[in-house]
Amino acid sequence: MNFKFSDKIRRVKEANKSDIRLMSIENEKVKGINLAQGICDLDLPEVLKKRAQNAIEEKNNSYTRCDGIYEIREAVAKKIKKYNNIDADPDKNIVVTSGATGAFYCACITMLNPGDEVILFEPYYGLHVSTVLAVGALPVFAKLNPPEWSFDINEIAELISPKTKAIIINNPANPCGKVFKRDELEQIADFAIEHDLIILTDEIYEYIVFDGNKHVSLASIERVKDRVITVSGYSKTFSVTGWRIGYCVCNETIAEMIACAHDLIYICAPAPFKVGVFKSINTLNDEYYHNICNEYRKKRNKLCAVLEEIGLTPYIPNGAYYTLVNAEKLKGINSKEKAMYLLNKIGIAAVPGRAFYNGDRGDNYLRFCFGRDDSILDEACKRLLTLDLY
Ligand code: PLP
Repeated sequence: MNFKFSDKIRRVKEANKSDIRLMSIENEKVKGINLAQGICDLDLPEVLKKRAQNAIEEKNNSYTRCDGIYEIREAVAKKIKKYNNIDADPDKNIVVTSGATGAFYCACITMLNPGDEVILFEPYYGLHVSTVLAVGALPVFAKLNPPEWSFDINEIAELISPKTKAIIINNPANPCGKVFKRDELEQIADFAIEHDLIILTDEIYEYIVFDGNKHVSLASIERVKDRVITVSGYSKTFSVTGWRIGYCVCNETIAEMIACAHDLIYICAPAPFKVGVFKSINTLNDEYYHNICNEYRKKRNKLCAVLEEIGLTPYIPNGAYYTLVNAEKLKGINSKEKAMYLLNKIGIAAVPGRAFYNGDRGDNYLRFCFGRDDSILDEACKRLLTLDLY
């Protein structure tokens, strides 16, 4: 039978070079070390495990309200007041979702019409682009310039058209590890106000910031707050990427519509995991968050030192758990060939840089994830040191 798929999913499939999945499959074939996928191997907090197990035993296994049980919305409201400096009413401004991905998709389907244009910073997180395409909107790319991953707001202004509806930021950013400074966020805020844009900010790595950098949430800038949808969740912070607990925080009217989208697509986020997560948010103290940051900082330093030594010069990330490296010296005419060369030569999977760029602009980059267990990272470092690029 000749299946006729929707234009939207065909566009998503085309854009989604799915190099991350591809490298994981290729890695499996050679039983290599997967530094391609965004895997975090830190242990999850004991309290989280126990509370989720209890929640299952206590029969918290049914559908819940589409925006999440009150207790988790309340816990998130307290947390974002304290950590993100955002005031939110648990009954009005918070929708607990099926991962940050669910929040992001619901926000896009709620705010964007086919043909709307959306500005994204490049290098980007591939799912942001795919989601924009999935709702029929069009991504427009604004450059982040290495080594600081800085941007020029005047250059971005040239991308504005009558169809521009939104701007997306990822802070801290996957894959480049940029942590947006307050003055940069102020520029983006004023830009959004001037051009009447919605801002979608994905802050899933909010607790993973290094070297005295501070996470600043765009929605903490009061004058722009109403047009910001903050997306985050607990996949990375609690090392439970498979649990699918995320949320978004936004203006009351938008939240109501996003909840409606979430109901349509997911009904609700997993019930017992919501219980585990809200009890953990309420129980864990600052030390927990400080420790995960410290763990990732040590992993970053370990991997980046080796990459530097062998001539795969890394851009040292200020946040998140990836490093983008300059792979010019590796064999291969593009980033995919370079990644395959590395995998076949020493059994380490990294993501070809083209996965984060439109066209071939990322062809000299590879992305490595350092969120893995220390024993895995140590073995990866050993293998990298056998690579002779000089
Ligand atoms: N946003 C970014 C920038 C990510 O890198 C990832 C995962 O790698 C996600 C969202 C996924 O978050 P979640 O597991 O909560 O859907």
